[in-house]
Amino acid sequence: MISWFRVNFEMSEQLPLLVRTPTPFEDESLFGYLLRISEANGYTSLAEVAPLAKLSVKQFNSKHLPVKKLAGILGFSQESLDRYKYIETSQSLHPRIQLLGHDLSSANNARRLSIKSRVCPLCIGSNGYISAFWDLSLALVCPRHGIIATTKCAKCKNTLSWNRLGVATCRCGADLTGVSQRKAPSSYVDLMQIIHLKLARIPISTLKQKSGFPLSDFEKIPLGQFLDILFAFNSFTLNRKYSASSDSNYAYLNVIDTACNIFSDWPNGLRTFLRSDNNRHIYSDKSFWTRFKGLYRVLNKSLWFDANCNFISDEIIKFGIDEMGELNDTLFEISPIALIAYYSECCHSFQFKAGSHSIGK
Ligand SMILES: [Zn+2]
Ligand SMILES: [Zn+2]
Repeated sequence: MISWFRVNFEMSEQLPLLVRTPTPFEDESLFGYLLRISEANGYTSLAEVAPLAKLSVKQFNSKHLPVKKLAGILGFSQESLDRYKYIETSQSLHPRIQLLGHDLSSANNARRLSIKSRVCPLCIGSNGYISAFWDLSLALVCPRHGIIATTKCAKCKNTLSWNRLGVATCRCGADLTGVSQRKAPSSYVDLMQIIHLKLARIPISTLKQKSGFPLSDFEKIPLGQFLDILFAFNSFTLNRKYSASSDSNYAYLNVIDTACNIFSDWPNGLRTFLRSDNNRHIYSDKSFWTRFKGLYRVLNKSLWFDANCNFISDEIIKFGIDEMGELNDTLFEISPIALIAYYSECCHSFQFKAGSHSIGK
């Protein structure tokens, strides 16, 4: 297949340029874009494009994709693909991972982006390209169409691979726009809309949702931190066996489900979570207050837990006050100042010890 030509012969390291390099859409997935290019140039999979770019197929199938090298073969400037810093440096112990300029670096980088291909059959049918939203590991439901993402081919039953014939065509030749659609729970769709708008830097306060998520509190949380919070609460549950480092759709659905349970119908979802047995492993003591303090301290140790998360800690403390049964002035060791008023209001008889309170961070 001859669809490449060479330019700048004086530069021996210059890689061949592809004949057809359509401009990437602003929000396009990098892997989705490469697939679109591969298809446009008549290749049958990304595996054929990889050696032309002097990359291994393994690199093409991982987040370890040298984005700058790719820019070279696409004839773009080095910076043009900077919005996809899937891996920036392998020298760094903590590589900065970016997606569309959002910093997704965290203690557990590996799980913020998925290397697996998922698509919404309706979106690829109407858009013709794959949004970078689908690169996020938690993107398993289409925020626009409310359906579960396609992760397997209905015809050959294989997991959807980036190494396929085209954006909407499986390796086996099946048309991915024709697969049956499964409706997702509405709270999942609402959560996906929040993530999608954050990725697009559009205010979420305009969303009309019925799930009762704390939108105004979520508004000020950057995407990377927001994802960290969702993953963190999942790790507090008994379901943490699914939150191993594997890139598993099942594990990600579990994160979504837990987050929807906790943050929908705010703060009642959180209260139900705190009452449940699911988080008993964090605090096994019988006294409620001891248990409550344990969770609070676990949260406070988390890197993502900053002032943006006061609405969570405030609710945990309110829950503690409301359901403690008896008052304990230990509460003031960690109680945010904002809660003193709440405490005073509902507990007039309590003698407040001034100056003994401090918030974790
Ligand atoms: Zn869709
Ligand atoms: Zn197939």
